[in-house]
Amino acid sequence: MTKHIFVTGGVVSSLGKGLNSASIGMLLESRGLKVRLQKFDPYVNVDPGTMSPYEHGEVYVTEDGAETDLDLGHYERFTNSVSNRYCNFTTGSIYHSVIMKERKGEYLGKTVQVIPHITNEIIECIQKLDGPDTDVVISEIGGIVGDIENQPFLEAIRQFGQKAGRENVLYIHLTLVPYLSAAEEIKTKPTQHSVGMMRQAGIQPDILICRMEKHLSAEIKEKLSLFCNVDKNAIIEERDVKPYLYEIPLILVDQGLDKLIIQKLGLKTNGDDISKWLSILEILKNPKQATEIAIVGKYICHQSAYESIYESLIHGGIGNNARVRMRRVESEDIERKGAKACLEGVRGILVPGGFGMRGVEGKIEAIQYARESKIPFFGICLGLQCAAIEFARNVCNLKAANSTEFDVNTPHPVISLLEEQREVSSKGGTMRLGAQPCILQAGTKAFKAYGRQNASERHRHRYEFNNTYKEIFLASGMVFSGHSPGEQLVEIMELKDHPWFVCVQFHPEFKSKPTNPHPLFKEFIRASLSI
Ligand code: GLN
Repeated sequence: MTKHIFVTGGVVSSLGKGLNSASIGMLLESRGLKVRLQKFDPYVNVDPGTMSPYEHGEVYVTEDGAETDLDLGHYERFTNSVSNRYCNFTTGSIYHSVIMKERKGEYLGKTVQVIPHITNEIIECIQKLDGPDTDVVISEIGGIVGDIENQPFLEAIRQFGQKAGRENVLYIHLTLVPYLSAAEEIKTKPTQHSVGMMRQAGIQPDILICRMEKHLSAEIKEKLSLFCNVDKNAIIEERDVKPYLYEIPLILVDQGLDKLIIQKLGLKTNGDDISKWLSILEILKNPKQATEIAIVGKYICHQSAYESIYESLIHGGIGNNARVRMRRVESEDIERKGAKACLEGVRGILVPGGFGMRGVEGKIEAIQYARESKIPFFGICLGLQCAAIEFARNVCNLKAANSTEFDVNTPHPVISLLEEQREVSSKGGTMRLGAQPCILQAGTKAFKAYGRQNASERHRHRYEFNNTYKEIFLASGMVFSGHSPGEQLVEIMELKDHPWFVCVQFHPEFKSKPTNPHPLFKEFIRASLSI
């Protein structure tokens, strides 16, 4: 029987529920258990695919092409579980499903209500991950207790616990225990209130994870235990771990959280091996070498708009025993100040994915600088498209080349709408999404990185390289090193005469892990270390 852990949050948002859920998953896996993770988001959008990165940060794409919350990226980086569309639900997706059922007549004769219909739907979504191959499902409830919009989710997990039996369900509450410097005191009251609200919702947390700046003394633990009705040994201190996210599981192990979960859920485990994780931390803390990479994007000021890119660069560093310093460059700054002023000194330049024309010319300038100065370059999705525009304009002499995304009337549409997109008008979940096969050309840098002919990578785009321009590109020194089956779509292109200039139409950052860096990120960092 599959057991369930629910992770809720209190006091303030951004305490790291996603990272803690992922870390718990990693710790259970290290004891031989099979885990799956999912997230419930209380907003009304059906998924985050239509939201700007300013609103929501990165949109993470699963193998099966769901556009999901970036916490699923943490789940996949920390564990071996593979996420799919059943791993992220929103208020919007839950209501959408219930309303579709109502229209089909599935509740004929009944008044459809939040309780039981919405809550039952949430419970079904939780159960979707159950199965003989899953020992534990970890469900993260977005938002914080007390939010109006998160109430149906709390009610559903309360009912779930009652039905499944308390011995099969664990509630973990992540909370803030602040230190007031003026009073020189650690304050437990916000957590008391937060747990009080959980109890009002009918849920008694089993474990508290306390985010704090200071040490959690025995006295404070005693107080929290008494007023929150949680065992003393189930109150876990979690101090800030910046800059090493991958340290969180180790902090939790030190506090005995894994043992506690196993004992509370009566799980049968098989060994405990965190040695791989320890060696990752060792490299992060004491790397043998270092490099600096510029990420040229247009959501640079948003902390998590390029979350998976930043993490994958760190993984590429781990694969080379190197620290990767990141210079985050706003592409519009390049338009104002020039590429050299913004990029001088970096040993690699990465242009990530994106939409819309703001900042595109700055990205193109950055790519020209990388190409001409022989600085390793990695273009991802829009990064590939900008590299194609740059190459067409400055090498093939097609001066007004562009993507039809930015100029529908360009005389040289080197990037144009995918055939399958021509009739598509609605926006949600309609791009070319998810895992697609890619066939690699022997003798290329891409082939060397992968070390094999076949790859599968995740996509999220509407535009593609226009094959009409293949010949002129080839004649000017571009190599098409990866294609979709039948050579229909260009998936990878690279420059022949350059230390490392590789562009991909897909998103390799969604498949990189600290324990298994993506081969292209690893090679990119290797190339940057060798110039
Ligand atoms: N805007 C481009 C497209 O739709 C690139 C998308 C992306 O970078 N994810 O094709």
